[in-house]
Amino acid sequence: MITLALSKGRIFDETLPLLRSAGIEVLEDPSTSRKLILPTNQPSVRVVLVRASDVPTYVQYGGADLGVTGLDTLIEHGGAGLYQPLDLKIARCRMSVAVPKGFDYEGAVRQGSRLKVATKYLSIAKDFFATKGVHVDLVKLYGSMELAPLTGLAQAIVDLVSTGSTLLANDLIEVERIMEVSSRLVVNQGALVLKRQAMRELMDAFERAVS
Ligand code: ATP
Ligand code: MG
Repeated sequence: MITLALSKGRIFDETLPLLRSAGIEVLEDPSTSRKLILPTNQPSVRVVLVRASDVPTYVQYGGADLGVTGLDTLIEHGGAGLYQPLDLKIARCRMSVAVPKGFDYEGAVRQGSRLKVATKYLSIAKDFFATKGVHVDLVKLYGSMELAPLTGLAQAIVDLVSTGSTLLANDLIEVERIMEVSSRLVVNQGALVLKRQAMRELMDAFERAVS
């Protein structure tokens, strides 16, 4: 049995076409089913639904043989124990710094003042500002980062942006692009050895589906 970890939402939705072109059909719809383990048309392949930020952990410890996770989540996890064979080029967005309209970000950075930054992505934010030589106080949030600068919790946020419409709706402006983000296939290193044949076939099928 091969177990593939996916998260509900855009990663699940955008992985489905890749699975389909590999001949794998997921037999239940997570938006209507409450099941967390979904069978596929291939008796030897199943999908488990986990929280996006838990995908690398499931794969690291062998709760799943492989999984699909955003580069953002993968960097925050650290990647220990994970083989990363493939950029699936789905769920594309970017990691950015945003501030309220009218906040002088350039000025604050130039003057070397401490910047209060709210984010879910502590590790990415910490590395980015350290490289720039900007002193930051990081505030860890689990969601709705856009609210932080509007309530005085922080002066800036580090968050994912795709169209920019959420920023716009909250009077925020993107002032820096930190990195391009897409989703990656991550593989348990032990599974690669123990289930060599089946894993190779699935990874090759993913690779063909991407290109
Ligand atoms: P959770 O809801 O469990 O806290 P999450 O909010 O990070 O996790 P999703 O919103 O489904 O989960 O995002 C999953 C992945 O999709 C992210 O890690 C990122 O790589 C990508 N992603 C997030 N936001 C966007 C976006 N606006 N456009 C494209 N891809 C995105
Ligand atoms: Mg979410």
